[in-house]
Amino acid sequence: MAPRDVVNDLARLTGTGENEAWATTLYSLEGILYERIRITNASRWILPLGIYHRTRRRGGQQWCAICLSTDRQAYYRKNWRLAIVSTCSKHGIVLADRCIDCGSPAVPHQGLDPCCHVCGSDRRSYPHVIADSKALQLEHNFREILAGRAHPPEACSNIYPLAFFNLVRQILSIVTANPRAQRLRETVCRHNGGDPSEPTFEGIISAPEFLSSSERHRMMAIVAQLLDGWPCASENPLCVIHGAHPSGGGGRTGGTESCHRFIVLRAALERPGDIPSFVQRRTDAQPQHAIDLPARRLAALRPDHNRAWRSRREGSLPQ
Ligand SMILES: [Zn+2]
Ligand SMILES: [Zn+2]
Repeated sequence: MAPRDVVNDLARLTGTGENEAWATTLYSLEGILYERIRITNASRWILPLGIYHRTRRRGGQQWCAICLSTDRQAYYRKNWRLAIVSTCSKHGIVLADRCIDCGSPAVPHQGLDPCCHVCGSDRRSYPHVIADSKALQLEHNFREILAGRAHPPEACSNIYPLAFFNLVRQILSIVTANPRAQRLRETVCRHNGGDPSEPTFEGIISAPEFLSSSERHRMMAIVAQLLDGWPCASENPLCVIHGAHPSGGGGRTGGTESCHRFIVLRAALERPGDIPSFVQRRTDAQPQHAIDLPARRLAALRPDHNRAWRSRREGSLPQ
């Protein structure tokens, strides 16, 4: 997360285009996945490294063992630093975030990368954990949206990607940290398999960014089941578009499994406190909050944002 000047210097020294170099940084996702990166505090969706006295204490740098072993020169993908990513869509496995031998986080600039800087264990030879297929598909869609190759589901196409990802985060937070989420997890897992037990957070903060990759993946599999066909599909008994229970029975008080899904997602939608008002509807007037935003982001927030955003980003980002 280097300042722009440093990125430009690096681009010049390596003969890379400035925009191309900038696209490799997490800043390039500002206004899409998160509003702004915070330097001094944890940023939404960015996995914390827990740096203390230059020592990393958290597994914020994930990796795919197969990607690293098949790279001509092993490198770490930008999206491996994001909490919405717990899988490799190319190889269908769960990302690793800790040394299997000593538990140290990856510190690529120390030791002989891609080997652990503490015990020398080779990150390329890690056992492969097959990912949950629905979580894999969901995260693949997230990455496609980030890369500008896809857009939020049809019924959400009138909200900006920033609002869409805030909504996803809210649902993930409900599934992981809501005191009453145990029943929801059990319901989903009873029908679709999976482990409904309470996730273990690393530290005292109950946020998705503070879950290990394996725990986040377990929770993402439940979110993927909740969002299956969402927000409106004939096979999904949940319909947030019509605000009704399409199967005809139950509604909010029925207590059936589908009603649990209904209630949870309605609750997420009806509490838009997390979603800045100016990104909620494409038809809104000029956003007032955008006054202090840089010009490039202001352009991205205009009513025709979705179209402009897609064309702006088309084919411009590495994985
Ligand atoms: Zn991979
Ligand atoms: Zn190690």
